Amino acid sequence: MAEPAATAAPTPPKALSAPQKAMHKLGLKRDIDLALHLPLRYEDETRVMALREAREGSVVQIEGTVTHSEVQYRGRRQLLVTLDDGSDTCTLRFFSFYPSHQKTLAVGARIRARGELKGGFAGYTMLHPAFKLAGGELPNALTPIYPTSAQLPQAYLRKAVVGALARVDLRETLPPDLLASLQRTARVSPTLRESLQQLHHPAPDVALAALEDGSHSAWQRLKAEELLAQQLSQALAKRERDALRAPALPLRREGLHEQLLAALPFALTAAQRRVGEEIALDLGRQVPMHRLLQGDVGSGKTVVAALAAAIAIDAGWQCALMAPTEILAEQHFRKLIGWLEPLLEPLGKRVAWLTGSQKKKQRAEMLALIASGEAALVVGTHAVIQDQVVFQRLALALIDEQHRFGVAQRLALRGKTGGALEPHLLMMSATPIPRTLAMSYYADLDVSTIDELPPGRTPIVTKVVSDARRAEVVARIRGQIDEGRQVYWVCPLIEESEALDLSNATATHAELSQALPGVLVGLLHSRMSPAEKKAVMSLFEQGQMGVLVSTTVIEVGVDVPNASLMVIEHAERFGLSQLHQLRGRVGRGAAASACVLMYSPPEGGRLGETARERLKAMVETNDGFEIARRDLDIRGPGEFLGARQSGAPLLRFADLATDTHLLDWAREAARTMLDQHPREAEQHLARWLGSKAEYLKA
Ligand code: ADP
Ligand code: MG
Repeated sequence: MAEPAATAAPTPPKALSAPQKAMHKLGLKRDIDLALHLPLRYEDETRVMALREAREGSVVQIEGTVTHSEVQYRGRRQLLVTLDDGSDTCTLRFFSFYPSHQKTLAVGARIRARGELKGGFAGYTMLHPAFKLAGGELPNALTPIYPTSAQLPQAYLRKAVVGALARVDLRETLPPDLLASLQRTARVSPTLRESLQQLHHPAPDVALAALEDGSHSAWQRLKAEELLAQQLSQALAKRERDALRAPALPLRREGLHEQLLAALPFALTAAQRRVGEEIALDLGRQVPMHRLLQGDVGSGKTVVAALAAAIAIDAGWQCALMAPTEILAEQHFRKLIGWLEPLLEPLGKRVAWLTGSQKKKQRAEMLALIASGEAALVVGTHAVIQDQVVFQRLALALIDEQHRFGVAQRLALRGKTGGALEPHLLMMSATPIPRTLAMSYYADLDVSTIDELPPGRTPIVTKVVSDARRAEVVARIRGQIDEGRQVYWVCPLIEESEALDLSNATATHAELSQALPGVLVGLLHSRMSPAEKKAVMSLFEQGQMGVLVSTTVIEVGVDVPNASLMVIEHAERFGLSQLHQLRGRVGRGAAASACVLMYSPPEGGRLGETARERLKAMVETNDGFEIARRDLDIRGPGEFLGARQSGAPLLRFADLATDTHLLDWAREAARTMLDQHPREAEQHLARWLGSKAEYLKA
């Protein structure tokens, strides 16, 4: 179909019309964007049904002559139009209408109307049907209904898509051998063009169910291509990094690493030994390590990180250790520093701290230590990777809770080796990545997994109770305190209102202080200065404080083995992995520990479906891997990844839960393509990622 250039051209002329602006806002700029903007659903306008044959309650298209048209005031002002199609008549009823509608629907006009056919006493009726003047041929494909916005009419968008499909370059990027292997994997449309044609304008006899559930060959083709693009970009990133150079850090016998092992108050678990070896191997190579160390809360990742640091320092390089918040950095790494510092002293090396709240003078001292290389280990928050921080020779960066760091921050680490080399990178996370995600979004990341807890831990018992039973919970706290144990009480962060958040916690603090006479109840919240926070934390750590009320979730990163009860208020407001992390703060000693999830249903209502699923998952399992799987189920990969700021473009069409066969194919295909068909690989990436492809190369 020929299109007037003014309506279909997606490249912006000087002044954009309102619908063009709306299109740009939806990200529909290039022809390929429009070609990949797929319908939400379809309407069948390919057939006209005779009223005599139509079924009441179904959506049908009819065509007839207007025999009567009038505005009535039966309760409400309404336009009633009688349509006679020769087999029967039907009343079209409109409660909202314009003079132009009345004009089109004038007596004698021949009209095509589409809507739900209702039967009844007074004969057939249709309420607010879509209508137009009859004439012209019936379309021979289903009519697409696109996702759109208020400023962008369907008809305009449809034309734009038709125009884009006619112009867009969809030449085959799959080499014949890969196409053949794809066809062995799934039933797929032979070309991308055909696949898009079918998805935008399906034939009237298409299997609608297959279109809807994504099993249709047109969908399979599209998803396979999308996954291929994603795998290509991941593989490219990996290859580019493999071309970089890092300092090789050999593991020396009788070096710092062995000394640290000997100084530890416990033996490593088998899993810790295994991942330690994986990391040591990476460090020994001249290629920068890019590894994720995953292991459940309490599985002992910090020791493994310390051992890696020992290797780097032993080789004469510097190591940086970062956590998302100051308190976490401090609490988390105090042990590690306690182990390493005595070993560094004889070498004339020191540990430097860098935090946002440091005094100028102290900071200047630290910066000098880092620049001179005297600081072998640098510990802190993001402050560590700010521009002013110049390392003498950084070889290894360790990042705790990696999902809280953005890609940009990780990139900022580059160029801090003090030379042309890249530092090795080890990220730690307590939220394991399910296998399909590891294969797709994190394909360029090596993963080490600690899959066992240190011995002697008793499993945590988790209970869900309504806020109505608050008094029982307080009684339980009393019981724990009487046994010499300590208790955490977490109030949720209320995003919309920091003040409200604070007043809740303050009220809870007052309530508990009153209910538990003789017990020191502490309060920790986001408005406190680091010094104040530190003071509260240390009272809790030393055991003088029985209960710690806290608003700021992440800052409960403490390691207090004597704490045996965790109460989480408004647990329904937390994410699943957050709840799991919080729960991991107890059960660190041998004592039996419990986690109480208190919920408050909305007034007069029930908790939402997903909130209930989350709480149920918490009760049913203590296993971080199982939690991560369920989290992925509940939230879907988009949100799951969103929290991780992966920087990788999300999949629009493929679904990792159902399309693993295509993912497997795409992984293989990406490798073959980069090796044997680099030009096609580039074309494929440009088509699918557009401007994002450049970002990946940066
Ligand atoms: P996470 O993986 O959550 O960072 P940590 O490294 O903080 O876990 O370790 C949790 C606790 O277990 C710490 O007190 C740590 O000293 C202790 N720990 C680590 N490894 C072992 C081990 N192999 N045996 C006994 N205790 C261990
Ligand atoms: Mg940790």
